Amino acid sequence: MGEPVVLYCSDRGNWLCPVCATEWFDSSDWLGELFLECLDVCNVCNTQIGNEDVDEVPANPENPPEKRWAKLRTTWLERSGYQAVDIRRLEDVFGIDM
Ligand SMILES: [Zn+2]
Repeated sequence: MGEPVVLYCSDRGNWLCPVCATEWFDSSDWLGELFLECLDVCNVCNTQIGNEDVDEVPANPENPPEKRWAKLRTTWLERSGYQAVDIRRLEDVFGIDM
């Protein structure tokens, strides 16, 4: 994957989806960036982690994971209609100013 990427973790030690910030229960077994290779589908934003978000091998420095996540996030929000609960979670977790 190249350069390190920032992943968020819940108080319980589970990973948060890098696209929609939903907590993935029982995901604490994946250590660090291995989570990004899990190939499971997020049940909230429908992103298949390790596939859709890392579509270029080798990684393109012009298109880092953070940029792809942001794009997937916009697509998901447009599809789901920018729900207030989702916006609030993104602001709380990622500090994104929507
Ligand atoms: Zn998600």
